[in-house]
Amino acid sequence: MYGSAMARGLLVTLKNLVRKPFTIQYPEQRLKQHPRFRGEEFVWYEERCTGCASCAKYCPLGIIKIVTSPSETAPKEGDKYLLEVFDIDLQRCMFCGLCVEACPYDALFMGSGFEEGQYSRENMVITIDQLRQSDKHPSTWYRPQLEAAGYMPNSGRPLGWREVGRESWRWHQGEKAGMRLAQAEGSSPVKDSEAGSLGSQPEPADRASADGRSEDPA
Ligand code: SF4
Ligand code: SF4
Repeated sequence: MYGSAMARGLLVTLKNLVRKPFTIQYPEQRLKQHPRFRGEEFVWYEERCTGCASCAKYCPLGIIKIVTSPSETAPKEGDKYLLEVFDIDLQRCMFCGLCVEACPYDALFMGSGFEEGQYSRENMVITIDQLRQSDKHPSTWYRPQLEAAGYMPNSGRPLGWREVGRESWRWHQGEKAGMRLAQAEGSSPVKDSEAGSLGSQPEPADRASADGRSEDPA
């Protein structure tokens, strides 16, 4: 009885000796990543962000902190907000993506990277400066315009803010949140054909009317 059990055990060992391993030698080798993969980071486009704080309000864990102030260069009082703080506390994030779903302006995307390990909890908070400087390789999750364009986040090509939207609103073509983007860059506002070149879609009426802004810091 014991002899047959030992033989069966050795048979399993022998089978695994000749089987091709399904593990890989990370980090030298990497598995192909799905474009909808929700990584351990976020991609944020300040140029598209109005500071409406919808993402912060929808986050079930309340880990997005946004502080805005009326911009001095606002066309009219309260029309645009200047973003002062945009922090995401990654250590409590469950990557549900509700914040991305809530963003009406395609300013926030799930990221595609996953190597954000840190040695301290303080460093697990993504700050507005980190978001500004981070690589723009957005996940295609909940962003059908990126999928329609066949965008692969790991292809190596970062996307600019004009390429990621579903619309070609005038507001987004020429201005930044609280700032005159065209003047700051020394260029003229983008034409319709240039804006949203990656999967641009007609502007939904309900989105255009959802231009709500919050004066409350989230
Ligand atoms: S992914 Fe979910 S938990 Fe994380 S910041 Fe967004 S809404 Fe909050
Ligand atoms: S919901 Fe979008 S536009 Fe509004 S504050 Fe968040 S990232 Fe910015």
